[in-house]
Amino acid sequence: MAPVTLPVTLPVSAVPHDCSAHKHVKDASAKTKADASVVLDDGVTLTTYPEDSSPLGLTWGAAAPEVRGPVVCSRYHDGLAKHNAIGAHSGPYCVYHALAVGSKQLDPNHVADYTNSQPAFSIPEQKAWYTETDIVAMDPLGHLTPFIFDETAKAENVQIRPSISVTKASLQLFELKDAVANNRMKVDGKIVLNRNGDVAVSKVAVEPVWYLPGVAQRFGITENELRKALFQDTNGMYPELITRPDIKVFLPPVGGLTVYIFGDPAYVSDPTKKVALRVHDECNGSDVFGSDICTCRPYLMFGIEEAVREAQNGGSGVVIYFRKEGRALGEVTKYLVYNARKRGGDTADEYFHRTECIAGVRDMRFQQLMPDILKWLGITKIDRMLSMSNMKHDAIVEQGIPIIERVPIPDELVPPDSRVEIDAKINAGYFTTGKVMTEAELKAVQGRTWNDVV
Ligand SMILES: [Zn+2]
Repeated sequence: MAPVTLPVTLPVSAVPHDCSAHKHVKDASAKTKADASVVLDDGVTLTTYPEDSSPLGLTWGAAAPEVRGPVVCSRYHDGLAKHNAIGAHSGPYCVYHALAVGSKQLDPNHVADYTNSQPAFSIPEQKAWYTETDIVAMDPLGHLTPFIFDETAKAENVQIRPSISVTKASLQLFELKDAVANNRMKVDGKIVLNRNGDVAVSKVAVEPVWYLPGVAQRFGITENELRKALFQDTNGMYPELITRPDIKVFLPPVGGLTVYIFGDPAYVSDPTKKVALRVHDECNGSDVFGSDICTCRPYLMFGIEEAVREAQNGGSGVVIYFRKEGRALGEVTKYLVYNARKRGGDTADEYFHRTECIAGVRDMRFQQLMPDILKWLGITKIDRMLSMSNMKHDAIVEQGIPIIERVPIPDELVPPDSRVEIDAKINAGYFTTGKVMTEAELKAVQGRTWNDVV
């Protein structure tokens, strides 16, 4: 058979176009009738309706763990009738779990042995763990769940899984090695371990667990509006969002976050100690692979260096890494935007418009849920905020955590090709101690074209 040849040259326009002129087709599939007959295999039970279901008690915000109760979100053993949360554990990795079970490589009734997996350091208990509104996007007991509810799991014959884990590590990063070599950072043997710039760190991994009434409140919508949007916009992936209003907790299939703490973790919640904080949203292309189109890795490394410095000065440094790739639009959309930028002249005045044309919005990260982790850690004020984002700043302050100083990325760390991004963001409201360009000046800020490098 002759190979299929795809067209390699597609029409390219150098003229920026007005996406508002696009006609949006409404309800194109209106009258198409699908075959409604569905054959389910033996042993498949739908949990869509509450008959024959008695979820284990879960009272979000209750004053003590035994009153609050565990999040049970596994169908195995007796979980089908007793689960009290919609969705599945492990965020997006729940699909791989299903593949492992489906391909018969994993016994779905495997009982986890959590021996020695308990937190490597303790997180001081906070009042915020026991309120209904302070923490709504993670389970504040998620690191303790399998240990404090072990007896419940056995008695009820259900799986109770952790959604948070707490460990320690050391980091080896080129930028920190360079900081030591150039005397920007000193070796102290405790935080900066040696001349190689190895740094000791305490880490916390967190999977999302949403208390739906609280999440709705943060976005200023009703719980019903939230449930309907989650159900419809995922093409009906979670029917229980609609049919089980008695179940208030949802484990969404989205990425979580990782906390990196430099210095004594106990200092983070000590109001007498200074805290430097960077909240960083994932940018794999820059963070890991060093793409120079944005300031992500330079700002992340600057944030780590400043966090280490704060810890060495007697305070603590915290870097929180959220899995919200490409402003939570994902890499596929991000690269499409890159193409549109590079083919359209790539000037700073068009920077956000390019994203809006393709995605409909300029940013899907919505920082409203981000401050939960700060409250969980017991952070009551931020002495140095290593971020220029106005959205992050406003979200934190609105949740009652004051920010004393904002620290922009130093100009010398901004790669030349990422001036387009940073100048556009500053013009749109990002914090700066420098100049805010006018619209006319933004037209003159131009990125490298593909012709310059290829
Ligand atoms: Zn980036």
